[in-house]
Amino acid sequence: MSSFLSRAALAASSIAVLILSPMNPVLAAEVVDTHSYANSAEVRTTHLVIDLDVDFAKRRLKGVTELQFEKLKPDADRIVLDTRALDVRSAEASADGKAWAATQFVLGANDAVLGQSLTVSLPAGATRVRIVYSTKPEATGLQWLKPAQTAGKKQPFLFSQSEAIHARSWLPLQDSPAVRATYEASVKTPKGLRAVMSAEMSDQPDAAGRWTFKMPQPIPSYLIALAVGDIAFQSMGPRTGVYAEPATLKAAAYEFAETETTLAVCEKLFGPYRWGRYDLMVLPPSFPFGGMENPRLTFVTPTVITGDRLLVSLIAHELAHSWSGNLVTNATWEDFWLNEGFTEYLTYRLTEAQFGKARGDMERIIGVASLKTDFALAKSDEDRKLVRAFPAKDPDEVFSSIPYERGALFLVWLESKFGRETFDRFLRSWFDDHAFQSATTPQFIAYLNDKLLKAQPGKVSAAQIDAWISQPALPADAVYATSDALTKVDAGRDAWLAGTTTLDAIGAEKWSVQEWEHFFEGFPKTATAAQLKALDTRFKLTGSPNAIIASDWYKLAIDSGQAAALMPQIEAYLGHVGRMKLISPIYRALAATEAGKAQAKAIYKKVGSGYHPIAQQTVERILKGS
Ligand SMILES: [Zn+2]
Repeated sequence: MSSFLSRAALAASSIAVLILSPMNPVLAAEVVDTHSYANSAEVRTTHLVIDLDVDFAKRRLKGVTELQFEKLKPDADRIVLDTRALDVRSAEASADGKAWAATQFVLGANDAVLGQSLTVSLPAGATRVRIVYSTKPEATGLQWLKPAQTAGKKQPFLFSQSEAIHARSWLPLQDSPAVRATYEASVKTPKGLRAVMSAEMSDQPDAAGRWTFKMPQPIPSYLIALAVGDIAFQSMGPRTGVYAEPATLKAAAYEFAETETTLAVCEKLFGPYRWGRYDLMVLPPSFPFGGMENPRLTFVTPTVITGDRLLVSLIAHELAHSWSGNLVTNATWEDFWLNEGFTEYLTYRLTEAQFGKARGDMERIIGVASLKTDFALAKSDEDRKLVRAFPAKDPDEVFSSIPYERGALFLVWLESKFGRETFDRFLRSWFDDHAFQSATTPQFIAYLNDKLLKAQPGKVSAAQIDAWISQPALPADAVYATSDALTKVDAGRDAWLAGTTTLDAIGAEKWSVQEWEHFFEGFPKTATAAQLKALDTRFKLTGSPNAIIASDWYKLAIDSGQAAALMPQIEAYLGHVGRMKLISPIYRALAATEAGKAQAKAIYKKVGSGYHPIAQQTVERILKGS
């Protein structure tokens, strides 16, 4: 996933999950996932059979989910699942799919973050249960779009976002990243609409009008994904293609045409791609993230379709998750950096390999800038660590660039100590040795110790590793990139602001979006109205078709107290885009003054219903000042 936010308190419930170490399958490490009710140390799901009927009028999925499981504790007499706001009608149990019979179930008390446990009794010999249920319109993992919110404007659209703990709002299951299961699914859509999922799929519905899917590799629940709408497909290469609304398809296929090359580059660096196809699903603009690495089918924001292919590192990021995250998965949300820090490091390596060191370095610098922003926004030292000393109550609240960029800096630092060749071999073996498993931070540290630290003694100490992972301050010997291009941007901006050069002379007409991001990032809040007006007149920033440049520009205008004349355009932007990385800075900038906060609240009241539930929570937190 690509994006960010802040942190909270302690979780109440906890479960223990057994993870077998591939180094020593006899020794089992106990993992505590405070974000799941599931009793997966006793009974663990191995396969799901999902049947869904999509009802746009009622904004609900009617479903039957069958869970096949193995008993780790032979006398276990119940399976405990996670749910949130599900209407559970009935539960049945069966031995190997023979004669289903009703069985008892109990829904636990509701927790605002975790939802409700669903405990299903297991009669002797039961190997499967199935739950008949429907979702509610407020399901946090689903967004139901009206036709007006789509590119085509004629048909409604539905998409899921299960990470971190939202799968439970549309599927009753063991919603922990430590539990992996294969799945098959069938989805009935209204006539003329297509369903796609993070799985193998056919391009036609079956005779009964149902779209069918099969995910043969075991994946964690947060990677189960569904989209339904007026969806068309265009191939981009032997293993890659793009799904999008017809109105967006052509531009998307052009923008992402280099994906097949990125896939080949990634395989060369980090080992074989193990998922078959790699396709993209371009969502409507309200998608709250940049991308979501649903296996075989990355979900992606349309805000990176800019016609110049300059924002495709987002695709490299989601593709890299096919190794770090989807193949080797954080066992709990406390280990999130194992997904995102690794993936961000891989992204920089891919960008460098495919587009050259200068572009890779430029993106590293922009990444570090976002890390510094989030370090400043962090409410406590606990939030600045790679791994917190105690779990956060809500994984969405602890979402920030820190696990991404601090994690990547840690791996860059390790690379600098051991050399790229050695470090690449180490990374590749980490992926190979833990393929299709979930891993904890202590498991990674033990592996690192074994394979690198002990093998090449004296280079890195345990205290240094601890400083990167468990201490709040960034280690002083972090390795940062430099960029001639961005140094020139700094010089141009500063000289123009000082009045020693003209806007025409700073070379901005040739800037990439990355150079523009850097230009805005280093801009003082003290620019005059005349300076901002000159900038806007020269480069037509207001209403820029590039959503990243537009977001940066509006934030700068607000920060400088010069946004009054731009409020209609800012409102239009916030009403069109739902990507949190782009709208949060604008809301935050507005909320910095009382008058601005009132304006932000008024805008949110008008446009907020068009945001994804996760984005709504985020904006509401900003406007509440929490
Ligand atoms: Zn990611």
